[in-house]
Amino acid sequence: GPVDPFDYIVFGATGDLTMRKLLPALYYRFRDGQMPADARIIGAARSKLSDDDFRGRAEKALARFVKAPDLDEAVARRFIGQIYFASVNGAEADSTWENLLRLFDDGVASRTRVFYLATSPSLYGDICRNLSEHGLVTPQSRVVLEKPIGTDLGSAERINDEVGQVFEEKKIFRIDHYLGKETVQNLIALRFANPVFERLWSSDAIDHVQITAAETVGVEGRGDYYDSSGALRDMIQNHLLQVMCLVAMEPPGALDADSLRNEKLKVLRALKPIAPDDVAHVAIRGQYGRGKIGDTVVPGYMEELGEGRQSRTETFVALKAEIHNWRWGKVPFYLRSGKRLPNKSSEIVVQFKETPWSIFKSKLQSNRLIIRLQPQEGIQLSIMSKDPGPDGMVLRPANIDISFEKAFSTRYPDAYERLLMDTVRGDPVLFMRRDEVEAAWTWVEPVLDGWARHPDTLHYYSAGSWGPDAARTLLSRDGRCWHEDVE
Ligand code: NAP
Repeated sequence: GPVDPFDYIVFGATGDLTMRKLLPALYYRFRDGQMPADARIIGAARSKLSDDDFRGRAEKALARFVKAPDLDEAVARRFIGQIYFASVNGAEADSTWENLLRLFDDGVASRTRVFYLATSPSLYGDICRNLSEHGLVTPQSRVVLEKPIGTDLGSAERINDEVGQVFEEKKIFRIDHYLGKETVQNLIALRFANPVFERLWSSDAIDHVQITAAETVGVEGRGDYYDSSGALRDMIQNHLLQVMCLVAMEPPGALDADSLRNEKLKVLRALKPIAPDDVAHVAIRGQYGRGKIGDTVVPGYMEELGEGRQSRTETFVALKAEIHNWRWGKVPFYLRSGKRLPNKSSEIVVQFKETPWSIFKSKLQSNRLIIRLQPQEGIQLSIMSKDPGPDGMVLRPANIDISFEKAFSTRYPDAYERLLMDTVRGDPVLFMRRDEVEAAWTWVEPVLDGWARHPDTLHYYSAGSWGPDAARTLLSRDGRCWHEDVE
């Protein structure tokens, strides 16, 4: 339903994220009647643009990033009429702040105010301090922080401290767009509304879990950002660990933000620390070289960065996470993410244990539950089944398969649509609490240290492959394999 009038102020409004994700998401919410006619979207960045200049850019962004036939011209025109722009330097307490202040007279003082920081995280502290010093932070204000919150534990704590001086923790929304994905939320439904799964959800029945986020793209013009980050910081520290938490957590007592986040935090704190000297065995990193995706020849990572650039940044990670608690003892979680892999897919594979004994001649494949986050969000359960025919008990694997889009015949909203509206409503359940972010960094940091200490742990892989061989060894050493290798 519609929400009360609000002002949505986006710092970094001329940037890639705003154009590609935030404006399209807000457009959809507007189109579906969730944004009141006097709500405002206020873009802020240093560029000297008028409202009309910025509206022109917004119009182009919608044309490019909203799928046909969802873009309705008349609706888009009304939506764009609610967009404003202020040229502000968020880093300095200078006179440019007047450009923003002029938009906030007494008439809007009591409205919900969301400050969305889509700039470099190094500016978050400055922007918050300046917002506060210019009297823009009202009791109805909250702040949204994009990833990455820092590049290690120390920098994350620094950002959290600085933002925390202006906003109380419950007013801080740390976004992890994986948590906005329908299928990720569906994990909670799957586990806690379907006893058939939860009864089996432990080392009693589960052998191990694989969580993969694979991309076919390279660094796509964001090379400078990516090169200073790498796959571990960009994907594992936040998205994959959050997904792992939802798979592994104990049932929360209720669905409120703190109940859920307390359980996720317990998982992060139960992770067995990876010693820097163990990285060669349990934290595989790789970088892609030239190769082929489908039929297209694509350049290697360093080529893509630019002529003559050298880099040791990882574009692939596969690691073994062990959760030291009663439920998951001896059930490793293998986490994997990479660029330039054979297909774009994010999925969770829950591999069940073998039958204790087999009465069949056919080789049995253990049951596998695959939760697909993309593409085609859905759930698939592999079962052994009798091959129809007169040839006796010949078995083969078959699938019980639900595609959510087909099952519910509805458009799947982008993760940002749900999350942006949550920030307007003030519901933090799908956002990360400070202690979660810091616990995740605490676990990830020794891996970074280990890689720095052991430079020879960087492997190379061809674009279009599933990463370096060492990623395969990570599982084969344990007598397991990645699910795409299951015969
Ligand atoms: P970007 O394209 O480089 O945009 C940065 C934005 O910040 C620009 O609008 C820039 O505009 C503005 N800016 C820079 N310095 C400023 C200052 N002192 N005061 C006010 N505005 C300033 O970056 P992006 O890709 O959109 O990413 C933004 C943030 O989102 C980053 O934290 C990034 O890690 C995160 N993120 C991005 C993506 C993505 O897909 N792009 C995904 C997840 C997270 P002016 O130059 O006009 O000031």
